[in-house]
Amino acid sequence: MKKLIAIALLVAAGCNQTSKKISLPELLATGKWVDLSYDFSEKTLYWPNNPTGFKLDTQFNGVTPAGFYYASNSFFTPEHGGTHLDAPVHFAKGKWSIDQVPLQQLLGEAIVIDVSGKVSNNADYLITVADVEAWEKQNGKIPANAILLFKTGWGKYYPDAKKYLGTAEKGAAAVANLHFPSVHPDLAAWLIKNRKIKALGVDTASVDYGQSKDFKTHQLLYAENIIGFENIASLDQLPAKGAFIIALPMKIRDGTGGPLRIIAWVPGTIGEKN
Ligand SMILES: [Zn+2]
Repeated sequence: MKKLIAIALLVAAGCNQTSKKISLPELLATGKWVDLSYDFSEKTLYWPNNPTGFKLDTQFNGVTPAGFYYASNSFFTPEHGGTHLDAPVHFAKGKWSIDQVPLQQLLGEAIVIDVSGKVSNNADYLITVADVEAWEKQNGKIPANAILLFKTGWGKYYPDAKKYLGTAEKGAAAVANLHFPSVHPDLAAWLIKNRKIKALGVDTASVDYGQSKDFKTHQLLYAENIIGFENIASLDQLPAKGAFIIALPMKIRDGTGGPLRIIAWVPGTIGEKN
């Protein structure tokens, strides 16, 4: 028996010698980075009742009296528009504001559940527990601490307000005309009870669907300090699992949300460089 253990140890030691350790930069060079953020411009989409959208004002652009070129702008934006993060305090008093969200909450494995086939052209589609169960049947259980992203296919309409939001009208009255798919509150409740996720993101304007009146999915998730990502771009470039998300919002003190640069690293094959 002792001899067998000794042989096993030798084999293990031999394996260790042959398998080369890969540094993090070497590993990252084998994959590719995907930008999941839309840029901010006058085309950026906001909730209809926002009084203003994104504004970029030129402060200076030209040659200075000293002879060198110089350019600087100032910008203005509501917190909740374009690719942005919802801090839990957006719908849950006393929960994290955007500056309080721990870094670990913003980094993690991406689980991408493609429901675009189910949504089809139904702008009022609600993503259900059955959709998640169907994904898990194919791919296994959603791992703990995942960043869960739902692909409805609606991203193809961005930034066409009429198609993406259901209305291009502005003002409080236009809110009733919003139509886009998102997460059923029953699914939010199920995820809280049965899975452990850090964040939930969608390729639509809200984690509640356009016709929601009570924003129940927001209320349920944010009460549990689960983070929301809205208007996520390019989800079609991610695999169903295995990509790694880095989602860094602007760090606004006491902010309820804000512009988000969200990127994903998609693993490639060791030995190949991209
Ligand atoms: Zn928001």
